[in-house]
Amino acid sequence: MIIIRYDEIGLKGKNRIFFEKILMENIEKQLKKIGYGSKVYRIRGRIIVESQAPIEIYKKIFGIRSFSPAYQSGLDLNDIYNSIKLLISNKNFNTFRISAQRLWKNYNYTSVQINEILGEWVIRDFNKKVKLENPDLNIGVEIMNDRSFIFTEKYPGPGGLPYGIEGKVLMLISGGIDSPVAAYLLMKRGADLIFIHYKTNDEILKKVKNLVNILSSYSPKNLDLIVEDHKKLLENIIPNLEMIHERKWTCIFCRYSMLKKAEEIAKHIKALAIGTGESLGQVASQTLNNISVENQATEMPVLRPLIGLDKIEIESIARKIGTFNESISVKGCGCPFLPIHPITNASLEKFLEIKDAVLKENMNKKDFNYEKNRC
Ligand code: ATP
Ligand code: MG
Repeated sequence: MIIIRYDEIGLKGKNRIFFEKILMENIEKQLKKIGYGSKVYRIRGRIIVESQAPIEIYKKIFGIRSFSPAYQSGLDLNDIYNSIKLLISNKNFNTFRISAQRLWKNYNYTSVQINEILGEWVIRDFNKKVKLENPDLNIGVEIMNDRSFIFTEKYPGPGGLPYGIEGKVLMLISGGIDSPVAAYLLMKRGADLIFIHYKTNDEILKKVKNLVNILSSYSPKNLDLIVEDHKKLLENIIPNLEMIHERKWTCIFCRYSMLKKAEEIAKHIKALAIGTGESLGQVASQTLNNISVENQATEMPVLRPLIGLDKIEIESIARKIGTFNESISVKGCGCPFLPIHPITNASLEKFLEIKDAVLKENMNKKDFNYEKNRC
């Protein structure tokens, strides 16, 4: 069986019951998704899972702080020691320690006493040495009111909050390195994601689908992807900007339109917020000026979890969560409509002045040749 620990800090009363309920449901569903049945129940601040599923899956379930494959035993110290013997007899080690923890405080012995007694028995029977810092083997004992658990491994989980506990977010995904990482961080904080991609070509769309699949492996369900046409965003904007000789505003209006369309869809699907992979100042276009102008598109919260991270930090998360290689698998050739000198410090005044003229329907849009400009 697997013993699962989760952070209880900040979890009180009803919140805690809700958190545990969703986490238990998510564990069951996520195991089922990879083809394994399970029995999941809760004992004294721990969740216990009985399942044959490979333990790697628990590294992908948000809300889990750490987990251990464990033996269950009774409360008698002799019983506990018998389980320890079973667990360690085929292990190769010279030094060890016992790390007992009482989750039930009325137990006959204190944690220190448990450590001392069991430690002595291990020394007596196995002729090994106690080493408190960095022992070869750390034997964990957790005492509940009616049973105990014994284990030697403690693996870190991803932490965070159970998937979906915070509600829906419509996530803009581009196929670059950043937006999948932003998606992961939002999922980790309990957001339930629906993805939207503005399609430029089939190759990038395929990559985005693969990225959504990788991200889905961290969720108890398969995540949906909505595909919109990138061309549609630009077919009015580009000819209108050309008419007023302001092509340098292309990216601002493109992003504005992405958010506007996203808001419309988010309302329809009852999402509470929009997510993006922007990081402040990372590229010349993601300045605070530009972001504040683009934000005019929506009154919905726009969540940008990467805002304070630099590229190296973002790439290191991308590698850790398994999206990096997919993100770089197809070299994006950049937007074909990228102006030579895109605006880096958009003025809100100027934006409001030209906005209506740029966004209005353009009767000459048939002349707008998206396909020809694509790479
Ligand atoms: P990324 O690595 O996520 O592509 P980036 O640093 O390349 O980010 P931009 O291309 O400027 O930055 O895009 C900023 C954000 O806008 C992206 O993180 C993503 O959330 C959104 N975005 C950009 N292009 C698209 C697209 N074609 N479809 C959906 N969202 C997009
Ligand atoms: Mg990009």
